[in-house]
Amino acid sequence: MTINVDKYKEIWDQALVMLEHNIKDKSFFDTIFYSSSIYNIVNDTIYITVNNKFCATTITNNYLDLINEVIYNITQSNFKCVVTTKSAMDEESKKNIFENETKPFVSNLNPKYTFDNFVVSDNSNREVFTAAMVIAKNPGLSYNPLFIYGKSGLGKTHLLHAIGNDIRFNQKNLKVLYLTADDFFEEYVKAIKESNIENLKDHYRDIDVLLIDDIQFLSKKEKTKEVFFHIFNLFVNNNKQIVITSDRHPNELKSLEDRLVSRFASGLSVEIKTIDYETALKILHKKIETQNINDKNISEEVLEYIAKNNSGDVRQLEGALNKLLFHIIINNPQGMITLKDLHGTFNIERQENFETLDADKIKNIVAEYYNITTNQLTSNLRTSSIVVARHIAMYLCRDLLNLPLIKIGEEFGGKDHTTVINACEKVNKKLKTDANYKQAVDELKNMLKN
Ligand code: ADP
Ligand code: MG
Repeated sequence: MTINVDKYKEIWDQALVMLEHNIKDKSFFDTIFYSSSIYNIVNDTIYITVNNKFCATTITNNYLDLINEVIYNITQSNFKCVVTTKSAMDEESKKNIFENETKPFVSNLNPKYTFDNFVVSDNSNREVFTAAMVIAKNPGLSYNPLFIYGKSGLGKTHLLHAIGNDIRFNQKNLKVLYLTADDFFEEYVKAIKESNIENLKDHYRDIDVLLIDDIQFLSKKEKTKEVFFHIFNLFVNNNKQIVITSDRHPNELKSLEDRLVSRFASGLSVEIKTIDYETALKILHKKIETQNINDKNISEEVLEYIAKNNSGDVRQLEGALNKLLFHIIINNPQGMITLKDLHGTFNIERQENFETLDADKIKNIVAEYYNITTNQLTSNLRTSSIVVARHIAMYLCRDLLNLPLIKIGEEFGGKDHTTVINACEKVNKKLKTDANYKQAVDELKNMLKN
């Protein structure tokens, strides 16, 4: 399995949280894992370095199994961990530098993302998932390119890696390369600097399956697009698979040229759509199951609550789940966790009290409170009392409803989102310094409760 260097820190940070949870004596934990990190991953071995030889021996003798297990949970792959010191590793690399003349091929795939742990639902992603499976089984022969588009946090990157991992596992002779459009640009710039464009093209000639993430970031520079176009054609013309993701439909990729867009459209473009409540709930269960999270004291009510309030975007959903896990690590509860226990974690009380609230109600009540009309409230009038009321109403929309800034701007006569940010900042500042003002805002909040 290959893991990108910039993922090392992320993996080790997650591992430390889990290790800490399992090692009772906190000051001992701090001592032996002080300044530990992943030094390198070579083939299936992860080299972890710690502060000194004593720590390395203590950890190896007592916690190696635990570390292997934790790393397995995070990466979903069987890595072998070796704990050593940084100076020992530096010595090793010096020795190896002359032995390893040829650079190993790096596919940049993250083993964590697989088809198995992707939740499929009819309304959101079944079509994309099926297309991804089909091309993973027969790369280059069905849809080429496969173009996956959709909003952020819905699983595009996950599917791209899943395709790559599946191919690497079942068709070991094929070389798979994952990279973002940004990475592509960087490689291109490096090649230019080293006057190596032909080498760059050769490099791609060697690859069988190319997975390009976030094509919307492909640089506007003509020359980069030209090289990309060349590589793209090389793949499609040779029946080598390309999969591309983007946050929008190919036709809306304004910075790309028509010839590239029409080439994209010659394959299959499929949209990955927002997930609904049922899917969100299934994803939560899946994450809990695959990450070996102990769910014996998480009540279904809690998961339903999280799914209900975060369906739409899976990244947000995962954020909420992490919050819950963090709550468990910190509080180490013995019995079942219910919604009541999570008031501090999720602002649940606030949401329940303001359940039937919407922007119209906020506008009406604030206008009434300040003796103005809602039209004045949403107008561009700059009379000071109207401005005060307008700022507070915007702030309440943000604070109580968590509305996006752009949406609040729209609610208030099409104002810019920076106007909304300014309003909220002003209110926040004033709440801290002006007791009368705070009282008015509190009164308004009370009036807005059902
Ligand atoms: P995108 O690339 O579309 O912005 P990602 O692929 O990075 O989204 O997904 C964000 C997170 O949500 C990832 O951790 C991914 O594993 C998870 N995720 C998204 N969709 C699903 C799904 N259908 N099933 C399981 N996990 C998902
Ligand atoms: Mg992505």
